[in-house]
Amino acid sequence: MIKDNVHRILAELPEGVQLVAAAKTRTPEEIFRAVEAGLKIIGENYVQEAEQAFQVIGNRVQWHMIGHLQRNKVKKAVRIFDMIETVDSIRLALEIDTSCRKIGKIMPLLIEINSGEETQKAGVVPGYAPGLIKEMSTLENIRVVGLMSMGPFTGDPEDARPYFVKTKKVFEELKQMELPRVEMKHLSMGMSNSYRVALEEGANMVRIGTNIFGQRR
Ligand SMILES: *Cc1c(COP(=O)(O)O)cnc(C)c1O
Repeated sequence: MIKDNVHRILAELPEGVQLVAAAKTRTPEEIFRAVEAGLKIIGENYVQEAEQAFQVIGNRVQWHMIGHLQRNKVKKAVRIFDMIETVDSIRLALEIDTSCRKIGKIMPLLIEINSGEETQKAGVVPGYAPGLIKEMSTLENIRVVGLMSMGPFTGDPEDARPYFVKTKKVFEELKQMELPRVEMKHLSMGMSNSYRVALEEGANMVRIGTNIFGQRR
């Protein structure tokens, strides 16, 4: 039951930790049930799915983009989303900044960290994050407010721990930079099988799909 799952997870999360429901492939009706159970943030991987769910659910919740955002989808994305968690290039940040300026919006962003330093994976490797964020801090219609990381996929959540530790370390280092328009507040790490480990390593935002909605079809 979606409702019981949401209640159980919300009760389990420590104070100050935000739950993002990873809603990819779920119907607007399923998402609506989670919202009725008290969910405050919906994470979507695709702009088109987000548009469909947004039409049903609207602004009673916050919408986070948690999938890779293509630059040709930015214009639509900035109208729906309250936060984009997956920014990993200055080109994408510039596109978001430009689209937001046109509609008079300031978009909070997380920088996606490729903590496993895997080639072909989305995200910036930790060493590039400070330079990238410095560049982004000059853009007036975006705000860098934290980091997001997936970490390499494995069956065992313990295998993800070193990558959570690494991302947390980068997070703390970036906090010291004190750049204009940058505020390192959110650390989004951990999914259904790994969120408990992520919380132990300092996550304050977790993205959970399966444990809320059941196995994806
Ligand atoms: C699907 C997804 C999740 C949640 O995955 P589950 O294992 O279903 O909890 C979290 N983050 C991102 C970016 C996702 O795409």
